[in-house]
Amino acid sequence: MALQNGSSEYHINLPKIKFTQLFIDGQFVHAVSGKTFETIDPRNGEVIAKIAEGDKDDIDLAVKAARHAFDNGPWPRFPPSERRRMMLKFADLIDQNMEELAALDSLDAGKLYSFGKLVEIPNAAEKLRYYAGAADKIHGSTLKMSGQLHGYTLREPIGVVGLIIPWNFPSQMFTMKVGPALAAGCTMVVKPAEQTPLSALFLAHLAKLAGIPDGVLNVVTGYGHSAGAAISSHMDIDKVSFTGSTEVGRLVMQAAAASNLKPVTLELGGKSPFIIFDDVDVDKVADLALRAITYNKGEICVAGTRVFVQEGIYDAFVVKLLEKVESWVVGDPFDPNVHQGPQVDEKQYNKILSYIEIGKKEGATLLTGGKPAANKGYYIEPTIFADVTDDMTIAKEEIFGPVMSLMKFKSVEEAIKRGNATKYGLAAGVMTNDLNIANTVSRSIRAGIVWINCYFAFSDTLPYGGYKMSGFGRDMGMESLESYLQTKSVAMPIHNSPWL
Ligand code: NAD
Repeated sequence: MALQNGSSEYHINLPKIKFTQLFIDGQFVHAVSGKTFETIDPRNGEVIAKIAEGDKDDIDLAVKAARHAFDNGPWPRFPPSERRRMMLKFADLIDQNMEELAALDSLDAGKLYSFGKLVEIPNAAEKLRYYAGAADKIHGSTLKMSGQLHGYTLREPIGVVGLIIPWNFPSQMFTMKVGPALAAGCTMVVKPAEQTPLSALFLAHLAKLAGIPDGVLNVVTGYGHSAGAAISSHMDIDKVSFTGSTEVGRLVMQAAAASNLKPVTLELGGKSPFIIFDDVDVDKVADLALRAITYNKGEICVAGTRVFVQEGIYDAFVVKLLEKVESWVVGDPFDPNVHQGPQVDEKQYNKILSYIEIGKKEGATLLTGGKPAANKGYYIEPTIFADVTDDMTIAKEEIFGPVMSLMKFKSVEEAIKRGNATKYGLAAGVMTNDLNIANTVSRSIRAGIVWINCYFAFSDTLPYGGYKMSGFGRDMGMESLESYLQTKSVAMPIHNSPWL
């Protein structure tokens, strides 16, 4: 297929949609209700495919399969090396299918195809490898007890887990949660976002090819209020890991508490400060600041949305930033020359445009952008507001789009105070060459991750999650694996039992 975009012509092979049904107990099946929903191409608003609409009945079937696989199946009982072997095979299959997976996420979510193929899909595979390597290093300890006893701890899989994921990084979120759950020996029901079901179903098919036994990994596509809610309130799910909005996170926690008190991990929204001090290379930092708000069209929870610039370089910074925006290309995500694709769907597109209107009404100065970037599809120009005050809506609420709020500050203390003036606490950026400032600010900002002279520096080894209303618990790193395990203490006499 040939598409025209600005001056560049490029060729893509849009993927054939192979999987549209629920994946339960190793089989692709229709929803019990027989219902389907449409998944939409954000480049043009057209229907890509009709997908099975799972609801409570389907979640019940998936949980039954996962429970059977956990209670009676081989997965938790395998030698860990066997789990590792299958997970590594799963990762290799992702690599072998990276073009198709990247294309599915571009089609469903408007993500950049080249970046997906080169970075995000290989990264999704790496997450499985990281946890595969940990599968045989899960162990407890031996403990002294008083008297004639000693004890030891067993680290056991927590059981059947529900994994509810959002639409902004469909493949990476999938393996970020599935990886540690598999390594721990859990079985699971994954609920991808209704906007992006395609790659999750493809990944389920790859898991089967890798030999992961039926019932271990189930995928139920459908809406949050039905399928998602059925997971968080389920009496036979032992843990829920949720990534999404703070509002829905609250509902998930309430449902978990009102049902079987299952533990929850919540990765929620953010409103991250990106703080720039006078001593930086303005050109380089302007580039990074623009990327911090436009990467994945701003649809990333750690986007550097509140950009605080110290007064000495403020004017020079604005000039550089606007120069960079000039050459920023918004367009078809399959075009390798494009920097920013369409927002995920019409709802998100309208939400972002309405925040831009609110910004204007509340008195912020629109420096650039602020409009749709095409006649069809959900494209929005990179948008920069100046003269933003801390109490404006655009400085407080998560927009989840390419909208930057610029603010000027004088001192380190002011930067810390204003950086922390948010209900969220997911991430922060600190740009300075002064070690004292870097250390002071990074220790004072209340956020789960602080990037010094870099941004979006992720690693599978680095735990990732929020302070305050950005949630609790961590994805990635060994901390995530821990949350899929529970500790059993075993006590016994060293010699003859005093009680026998
Ligand atoms: P969302 O909360 O609307 O949906 C997330 C998932 O929850 C989807 O699968 C959805 O179907 C499901 N869901 C919706 N209602 C539900 C309910 N009542 N019960 C159970 N599940 C339900 O979020 P979204 O719009 O898909 O994603 C954007 C949000 O996710 C943003 O707020 C963003 O900051 C956040 N996010 C956070 C992180 C992080 O790591 N902290 C990462 C990515 C996205």
